Amino acid sequence: MKDIIFDEFQNSVNESLLRHKSILDLMSKYTESSARVNRAIAKAVTNCGCIKINATKQHLLDENSIEDLCDCLNTHVEGELCDNCREVIEREMGNNLFYLTSLCNDLDINLYDILLKEQDKINTLGKFTFR
Ligand SMILES: [Zn+2]
Repeated sequence: MKDIIFDEFQNSVNESLLRHKSILDLMSKYTESSARVNRAIAKAVTNCGCIKINATKQHLLDENSIEDLCDCLNTHVEGELCDNCREVIEREMGNNLFYLTSLCNDLDINLYDILLKEQDKINTLGKFTFR
C-alpha cells in the first residue's frame, strides 16, 4: 500500500530537482543540509537563547529496567523554541528531507516504504532497538 502524500512529495521532488542531478551532488547536498539542521539548533542556543543545552553524564542504575530508561535519560534541552528558531529549523529539516528524497529517487527507493519498514521495526522490536 502506498501513501499518496508521500508519493506526491517524492514525485514533486523529482520534478523540481534541476541543478543537482548527479548522485555525488545529492550525497554532498544531503550531508550539507544535515549540518545546517545542526547549525540552526546551535544558533537557537548561542544566538537566540530560546533553548539551552544542559548536558551531563546520563546516569544509569544497574537495577533500571528498560521501561525505566525513558524516565531516567534526559534530552539535555531546556526551554522551548521561539517561533523564529522553529521556522528556521523546520526549513532546514525540510531541505534535508528534500535531499534524502532526491537520493531515494536516484536509487529507485520509495520513501514511504522506508517509513513503513522503520515503523515495522519499531513495532516488532519496540524498546529493544536500543537507539
Ligand atoms: Zn529562538
